[in-house]
Amino acid sequence: MSETENEVVTYEVRGAVAVVTMNRPEYRNAQNSAMTYALDEAFYRANADDEVKVIVLAGSGKHFSAGHDIGTPGRDIDSSFERKAGLWWDHVGKEGVDSRFARESEVYLGMCRRWREMPKPMIAMVQGACIAGALMLAWCSDLIVASDDAFFADPVVRMGIPGVEYFAHPWVMGPRFAKEFLFTGDRMPADRALAIGMVNRVVPRDELESETFALADRIAQMPRLGLALTKKAVNQAEDLMGLRTGMDSVFGLHHAAHAHNAEVGADSLAGQTAKSMRDSAT
Ligand code: ZN
Repeated sequence: MSETENEVVTYEVRGAVAVVTMNRPEYRNAQNSAMTYALDEAFYRANADDEVKVIVLAGSGKHFSAGHDIGTPGRDIDSSFERKAGLWWDHVGKEGVDSRFARESEVYLGMCRRWREMPKPMIAMVQGACIAGALMLAWCSDLIVASDDAFFADPVVRMGIPGVEYFAHPWVMGPRFAKEFLFTGDRMPADRALAIGMVNRVVPRDELESETFALADRIAQMPRLGLALTKKAVNQAEDLMGLRTGMDSVFGLHHAAHAHNAEVGADSLAGQTAKSMRDSAT
């Protein structure tokens, strides 16, 4: 089915669980801005619905997501959307850092932070690839259930960039593992992600859905406000461990890298494409 016949994000409620599904399987759920804003709308809807207690974030097809869209026909980086994550000006029609910083503050760092702060618990249900920008979605979820075929990678060091925009690496896996993960850009298999505490559970691929929904249903038995306050309590503790300020400081380094690439080369991604990044993956 072509994208025009298909929504980039689908929304469904099963009992007390809202299922939000990235739906560009032909592009391994590469996230364009249309998808970001559709996700935001779906999350808003789930949080506003009193019948919904828990959200499951999924990706259709073989992979959770290959990350930000850096090369599909639906790439839409020059499009304006109604901004929701912050009050920074629109990036369209601006140049250099003026444009790039505005855009990434809004659609990447800003949106992921906004989603992390949703009052309802969210479980990422991850199969296959969870690469770069996809990590940001898994990490701003509260829990991660992965299938045994899932793998995780942030290979942007090849672009000369110190990790994706939502720089949670040292908090979600510990600093030494974060360095190995970032220095090598290698794929981390699900069992290793479990061993270092980056995911909650690893289950066989054909049980991914049943296990994730069993967990969601169990959490959905708890009182809504209790869950919201508990989530906030842990998030606040994580921020006291430096997550928020750490991320802000690294966002500056991230943009120094983009600007360096644009200054000395052809573009802010050091000439890398979706294909070149995929071909060099190990
Ligand atoms: Zn960036």
